[in-house]
Amino acid sequence: MTDVIKLLPDAVANQIAAGEVVQRPASVVKELMENAIDAGAAHVRLLVKDAGRTLIQVIDDGKGMSETDARLSIERHATSKISSAADLFAIKSMGFRGEALASIAAIAHMEIKTRRSDQELGTQICAEGSLVKSQKPVQTPKGTSVSVKNLFYNIPARRNFLKSRQIEMRHIVEEFNRVALANPQVKMELHDDNSSRYQLPKGVMKQRIISLLGKNMEQKLVPVKVETALADIYGFTGKPEFAKKTRGEQYFFVNNRFFKHPYFHHAVENAYSQLLPEKSFPSYFLFFQIDPARIDINIHPTKTEVNFVDGQGIYAVLRSAVRKALGSHNLTPSLDFDTEQSFSSQASSAHRPVRSPEVKMTPGYNPFEQQDAGRMRSSPPHSPVAGRKNVDWQALYNSPSPGEPQSQPIDNTLITKENENEKAYFLQLHGEYIAS
Ligand code: ADP
Ligand code: MG
Repeated sequence: MTDVIKLLPDAVANQIAAGEVVQRPASVVKELMENAIDAGAAHVRLLVKDAGRTLIQVIDDGKGMSETDARLSIERHATSKISSAADLFAIKSMGFRGEALASIAAIAHMEIKTRRSDQELGTQICAEGSLVKSQKPVQTPKGTSVSVKNLFYNIPARRNFLKSRQIEMRHIVEEFNRVALANPQVKMELHDDNSSRYQLPKGVMKQRIISLLGKNMEQKLVPVKVETALADIYGFTGKPEFAKKTRGEQYFFVNNRFFKHPYFHHAVENAYSQLLPEKSFPSYFLFFQIDPARIDINIHPTKTEVNFVDGQGIYAVLRSAVRKALGSHNLTPSLDFDTEQSFSSQASSAHRPVRSPEVKMTPGYNPFEQQDAGRMRSSPPHSPVAGRKNVDWQALYNSPSPGEPQSQPIDNTLITKENENEKAYFLQLHGEYIAS
């Protein structure tokens, strides 16, 4: 019998890879915008026609590509962002797999126009189904413009599977939002069928949230900030009274990359426990800065799944940071938990009682230190609020919320950055201790 295994032609291999990378027009938006960010753009424009079926174009003023680089950019596993396996543990860029442009070029008509600032003439490449149809010199502004037309033209099943214009556009806007929120220092625009949907000036994080989601966001958010050896977490979380009836406006970013994380989401929800009416969802915009060697983003081609080496410790840091933010918010006159009516009257239908969070510092006390579960549940000896409600620590961190996975047991190695050899400070909130 003859041998039967053969290497697939590039065009076929690219089409297979595209199946994972490009699920819908919004995936193209994500990949092209991230490339623009990686190219150091100060201004990124996204143009969309027919919710991406007819055209998706991203124009940036970043560093551009040489003639040869432009030609190589649509080859699979061609990237300027990493060159060795070791680099995988120190990734600072959005891309690194070198497969987005190759995948998109396999299933669409693509035109790239690009020029580096040290070149007078740029280059234009037209490709279709992984084949380069033409490449020629062209006059073009510094930076790169990538146009993707007739997406899935050669995969009718995928094209027919696309949802309504409205739904596909919603996905596109969501991807745009994620990149926009992660990069407030970059001016960004979204034009949809020749009308301008977003014009976002460059600014800081809060300004970006407001220009994307509306002026009224300003009064709805409280700042979150914590710096520890495991992670720095910054951002904003929504005041409980503005929690929404639907999910959305829930954003985690790690090293400026949007990611989804049910376990950390649970930590945030847990921080809100007893502050939210039932079936309502807090908004949050939380940015984690973590040593790239302590995370793995190479789990899935779309890179929205991230593994954290210190997941359990970060869970605790996150939960306490959000809780602390909500506690300090309580000190401001805009929301007075002591007069429960102010919250419950705004909290509409679900009349769950809300207890006043009492924030007291207990420096040096570490409830995790005590091995004996019985002692852990009793009030600590130096607690200024001894005699308050007893707390089961493991239950506190492990109690699941509806629809969320059971959280993992918590690690007892919380260490603050400033004082790594000493115990963390603990806050008391609702008679429960949280690390600070
Ligand atoms: P990756 O981003 O993972 O490297 P891509 O397929 O998205 O893979 O892009 C391949 C390469 O093409 C990039 O590494 C980069 O060198 C170049 N490139 C893509 N888009 C741009 C852009 N907008 N500006 C400059 N270079 C780009
Ligand atoms: Mg890329």
